[in-house]
Amino acid sequence: MKSTLLVPFGLKDETLYEPTQVENGKACDCVCPACKKPLVAKQNAKTPHFAHSQDDNCTRGFETAVHLAVKQIIAEKMEVRLPAVVWKNPLPRSKEISKLYVEEIVKLESVFLEQVVDDFIPDIIVVSNGTTYLVEVAVTHFIDEIKQNKINNKKIQTIEIDVSGLKNGFTLVELEKAIYINKDYKAEWKYHPILAKLDFDVLQAEEKRIAELEEEERKEDEKFKKYRDRPPEEKLQLNLKYIGLTNQQMNSLKRRVFNNLGDVKEVVWQSAVLVYIAKISEAEGWEDGLSCYINLFDCFDWLQRVFDINPYHNDSEISTLMLYFKHLVQLKILKQDDGSEYELLMNKEQWAK
Ligand SMILES: [Zn+2]
Repeated sequence: MKSTLLVPFGLKDETLYEPTQVENGKACDCVCPACKKPLVAKQNAKTPHFAHSQDDNCTRGFETAVHLAVKQIIAEKMEVRLPAVVWKNPLPRSKEISKLYVEEIVKLESVFLEQVVDDFIPDIIVVSNGTTYLVEVAVTHFIDEIKQNKINNKKIQTIEIDVSGLKNGFTLVELEKAIYINKDYKAEWKYHPILAKLDFDVLQAEEKRIAELEEEERKEDEKFKKYRDRPPEEKLQLNLKYIGLTNQQMNSLKRRVFNNLGDVKEVVWQSAVLVYIAKISEAEGWEDGLSCYINLFDCFDWLQRVFDINPYHNDSEISTLMLYFKHLVQLKILKQDDGSEYELLMNKEQWAK
């Protein structure tokens, strides 16, 4: 497909020129920066530009010209505008952002164009104050995962300057302003040792946290498995011991719902619900006067794990559990708050009364 973006600069003797800086028409003596075929300068067009002198299929004239122009400007000016160093916490649940350094323009000691770094070719390699930086210029192609991995492995400070917003009709001077002065300069760090270290620390801590949670869960599952292997009467006695109730007291708290939860006896799973409520209130250090919420679905998930109930999230079993929650509301142990959330009104010492 033919690009609607016109060739903005022509190449003559390794230097880029605007259409008005050279002779008009064929006399411009410029070639296309991409395909190297002759160009004609169109000075009198509404937007002065270059066109290929023979119709051809070159589609990369705009992109290559802009790309080259940015490199030419940086090499001539011997300065680069380093964006602010901003750290975003890489964890998806985190919204933490901190600005570590402000944007600055630094003087360059050396500039190397298209020089190979091991197995890839950065657009520009610059040296400022003894530090080497890679500068990538994105017109239509941004740093992809493969290149990013190579940069990460090399651990060289890298910025990417985004000039993908450029449309037809700008001069070299305007391009220079865009990358040194304009407020809407779009550039970001693609590798910075401080950012890399902060990311590494956060991700390592997260990995450790997940491993600990998994270990905890595994231990709990082992405990649940031992519990499941006991006969129903023993399960009931363990539950009652945990909540400090006698069989008789439990009789006044249970409710006939004519449905089992999985193949677990009514009084066993209902006393387990009470264990769950007691566990939550203990974990939250609940006492009278404070708020503590019991979630129906969380309770169901827990019962599924304890009793190994399948299939997962069976509607009729959730309804069965809901009937028992309603019973606890009638007993004024819980108060329905909002949908599946129930507020705890009484601690377990008061349940027997
Ligand atoms: Zn071309």
